[in-house]
Amino acid sequence: MQQFNIEKVRQDFPILTEKVYGKPLVYLDNGATTQKPQAVIDALTQYYATYNSNVHRGVHFLSQKATDAEEAARRGVQAFIHAAHEYEIIFTKGTTDSINLVAYSFAKKYVRPGDEIIVSEMEHHSNIVPWQMACEDRGATLKVWRMNEKGVLDLADLDTLITDKTKMLAVTWVSNTLGTVNPIADIVAKAHQHDVPVLVDAAQAIQHLPIDVQALDIDFLVFSGHKIYGPTGIGVLYGKEKWLQEMPPYQGGGSMIKSVQFSGTTYTDLPFRFEAGTPNIAGAIGLHAALNYVQDIGLTAIAAYEHELLVYAQTQLAAIPGLRFIGEAPEKSATISFLIGDLHPFDVGELLDKQGIAVRTGHHCCQPIMDKFGIPGTIRASLSFYNTKGEIDALISGLQKAVSMLS
Ligand code: PLP
Repeated sequence: MQQFNIEKVRQDFPILTEKVYGKPLVYLDNGATTQKPQAVIDALTQYYATYNSNVHRGVHFLSQKATDAEEAARRGVQAFIHAAHEYEIIFTKGTTDSINLVAYSFAKKYVRPGDEIIVSEMEHHSNIVPWQMACEDRGATLKVWRMNEKGVLDLADLDTLITDKTKMLAVTWVSNTLGTVNPIADIVAKAHQHDVPVLVDAAQAIQHLPIDVQALDIDFLVFSGHKIYGPTGIGVLYGKEKWLQEMPPYQGGGSMIKSVQFSGTTYTDLPFRFEAGTPNIAGAIGLHAALNYVQDIGLTAIAAYEHELLVYAQTQLAAIPGLRFIGEAPEKSATISFLIGDLHPFDVGELLDKQGIAVRTGHHCCQPIMDKFGIPGTIRASLSFYNTKGEIDALISGLQKAVSMLS
């Protein structure tokens, strides 16, 4: 099944040979952030060591070179998600920043008192709070698309949830807590039947699934560089031209203007209208290197291998007495949340840590999911294509050890 050389892949990530507490690192916290391949580290070093300069402002050699590299990164993102135009790619700080941009700017333009915005119950806080703020600001109402006990959304609910007041549906493609993969094509098609645009949070999809925003007719798609093996502090907002052209700027400052007088300012064209200030140039360059790296391996091969790991891990975990999965959607990415008996997730996580195994515990910035299941948090193992079955075996024996110490 595996279509790439896992040993070679692991050698590309220097951190994977690190030891923690003298034990080999078993990194299963990829949902929080992914590790960086040498190609990304090299791209960042090369930029800072050989052509560090500000972009779009200088005629000199270094500035031109940095500008070319940043704009090549924009085209790299465009190609990666199959956007129609490079100016539909806005560089941001990350998913959170991208959603805040849309929530502020789209709502300012299109949302009026009495209007409605829909988010799903499985959203990360960053796809809830900006919309709550926008609703408060615009006098609109936030409605919640509930999920069932397995962590699955029912498409038919949208027919009753959406009204002629609905201005936006904001939904995650893949749940960072439950692993649920939502049927984005069907969701977008359904929302569009009602003339409602869709913002897709792809923070946990971009690194696992091939994405074509045009084929799926997605209105807005957001993601973070650091979740797809790139640097922190860089992210992407894709928006269809027809929306971005009409939306007002989010922040004011340098680079986003055509002319500034004290009597008034005119704004420049896309994408720069939404990129006030000096951008994260190194971040964009590093992200480009990360996308190229992922593309070389191939997202189809990555998805197939990660699925194999998921099935292997789920089967082994299910055999642990008292273990309960949180999130049992039939379509899942390789993110597994679970609890064992009445053991506190934090205690289990701490004992795993001492064995060199990094998992995440807590609410994963999804408190509404915890409320739904009536739990304080979960233990979450989130896998990547550089993980191995041997590492899952280590997780299982680590858990067995933790259980025997805590029981
Ligand atoms: N949305 C989802 C589904 C996520 O998993 C995350 C991060 O975990 C975010 C949004 C926020 O991403 P960032 O903190 O990079 O802005």
